[in-house]
Amino acid sequence: VLRIRARYADQSKKIIGTPALNWPAVCACCGIPQPQTVYVLEQIARHNRGGWGPAAGGVSTYIPETGYQMLWNVPCCQPCLVHAQKSHHPFSLFWTVIRGGIPTMFLGGFILFSMGVADDPDAMSDPAGLVIAIAFVILNFVAWVGIWQLIGAFMRWRGSRFVTPMCADPRAPVAASSNYEHVRFDFTNDRYAWGVAQANGLWIEPARFTTLPWLADLGARNLG
Ligand SMILES: [Zn+2]
Ligand SMILES: [Zn+2]
Repeated sequence: VLRIRARYADQSKKIIGTPALNWPAVCACCGIPQPQTVYVLEQIARHNRGGWGPAAGGVSTYIPETGYQMLWNVPCCQPCLVHAQKSHHPFSLFWTVIRGGIPTMFLGGFILFSMGVADDPDAMSDPAGLVIAIAFVILNFVAWVGIWQLIGAFMRWRGSRFVTPMCADPRAPVAASSNYEHVRFDFTNDRYAWGVAQANGLWIEPARFTTLPWLADLGARNLG
């Protein structure tokens, strides 16, 4: 799995625009020439989902969803569009862990409390109970990462039933992520990644965070 980085902002982090890339005219997954369809790749840089935030005078105000939307048409044949769509993970890791983990943390915490674990207002009086409570909170969130990975494995298996023998991977052929300066493109097909790099005079590097794009994006994300 290889990655290409392209600038959408200058060194002072001022947005200069969507990187205009030349995409070689072969399917980005299986490599067949002149595909008649495209995979629409979207990346919203500096994404803020919106929500209630502080305003002047100690009141709250609704901050609308913001972000810089970028779109690219990546050549991709019809069968590869199908497996890319079938294997698409429906949930983001970040929101799965937050939305799943917080309710189960309170539920599990309540059960532990009812069982008499760490129920003393002076936590230091029961160090073993405190350790159990902290271990439970950590394990709770780790478990939700595991649930998210299981869903991802299931979706890839679902997509794998639609691949052709020439396909590089059941997933979408390219995934995007961004920080304040660069958009990162992670390719499943190494040969296609080299082709894009060559066609645009860009460097190629290993895609280390492909399975964890949220980690790489965290620095440039305003959680709202
Ligand atoms: Zn294809
Ligand atoms: Zn394919």
